[in-house]
Amino acid sequence: MAAKDNLTAVLYGINDMRLEQRPIPVPKDNQVLLKMESVGICGSDIHYLVNGRIGPFVVEKPMIIGHEASGTVVLCGKNVTSLKPGDRVAIEPGVGCRICSFCKSGDYHLCPEMVFCATPPVDGNLSRYYVHDADFCFKLPDNVSLDEGALMEPLSVGVHACKRANVRFGDVVLILGAGPIGLVTLLAAKAMGATKALITDVVDIRLAKAKELGADYTLKIEKNMTEEDIVKKIKALLGEEPNISLDCTGAEQCVRVAVQVTKSGGVVTLIGLGAFEMKLPLTGALIREVDIRGVFRYNNDYPTAIEMVRSGKINVKALITHHYKIEDTLKAFHTSKTGEGNPIKVMIHANPEWKK
Ligand code: NAD
Ligand code: ZN
Repeated sequence: MAAKDNLTAVLYGINDMRLEQRPIPVPKDNQVLLKMESVGICGSDIHYLVNGRIGPFVVEKPMIIGHEASGTVVLCGKNVTSLKPGDRVAIEPGVGCRICSFCKSGDYHLCPEMVFCATPPVDGNLSRYYVHDADFCFKLPDNVSLDEGALMEPLSVGVHACKRANVRFGDVVLILGAGPIGLVTLLAAKAMGATKALITDVVDIRLAKAKELGADYTLKIEKNMTEEDIVKKIKALLGEEPNISLDCTGAEQCVRVAVQVTKSGGVVTLIGLGAFEMKLPLTGALIREVDIRGVFRYNNDYPTAIEMVRSGKINVKALITHHYKIEDTLKAFHTSKTGEGNPIKVMIHANPEWKK
């Protein structure tokens, strides 16, 4: 390959992100070399930048950031038959060990040996060039853009959450939190048949975006509202109790509300990562047979997410509020970190030919 420029965004430590040149990697036999295109900033990237850690995952040595990404295949390892140079792909950033009981049973997202982009110590993919296992690269249909390709990562979280909750036609769904994850969960829930969806947030502009994306009802949570008030308001707006609630905040108040407002026999799905311990009204849930289910990333959900966009069922690109070139990575992270200009999804473009 003649190209030499592999500008890469590397997190050295707390609030220390640097752009530097790295060698262009060589794909292994089962891998493809990708010319990177769109890389979205996720809340977890900001956590690593600001705190240097998320729970047990600590940035102890320089780590390439980025995991919500898409690119174009430029070179295939000799065993790759599923892709060819020129194919545009969405990159599923986590690859399991392929041999443990979780990987073998299809629950590869629970693999204890999972190698996941930009989860320390594993490098991410905010760079001009990057190699990835070919079977974790999903070819994009012609009518799906590379920006949308990068959004398949958060959308897959929403798809997986709705599959865990078993969202089907006719369901009445409550989503708590209208950040990027709440919004993709809303999109997935509507695409999977929810007939009524109510979404809550504390920020007006996020609720306005949720309306634009298809929320049937929105509820602004004010500081002085009690849990009882919130439960009453949700029931009044929907005209009934939701049979499925999905928490996308991690806030104890939201999880408590979800447990109390969900219809007997229904499901509460927890996506938001909050405090390690919470006080919840569990007895109330058990005597009403309300199931509480966790959600961790996704498994086998990329094809569903891509099909939702290909078929025109959802408009995922409406989530993107800001675009930056990779050269402006620090500005992009500043926008995402500070919330200046009300960002929802900030997209960074690694291809030097990208134009606004
Ligand atoms: P975010 O912070 O952008 O969004 C959270 C939203 O919740 C914000 O809009 C905020 O205003 C709102 N909120 C906060 N307190 C609230 C309250 N009391 N009532 C109503 N709304 C409230 O984050 P995000 O990127 O959308 O991610 C959401 C959560 O999902 C985070 O905790 C993140 O760590 C988690 N997450 C989990 C997984 C997983 O696999 N389980 C994957 C990705 C993200
Ligand atoms: Zn495994």
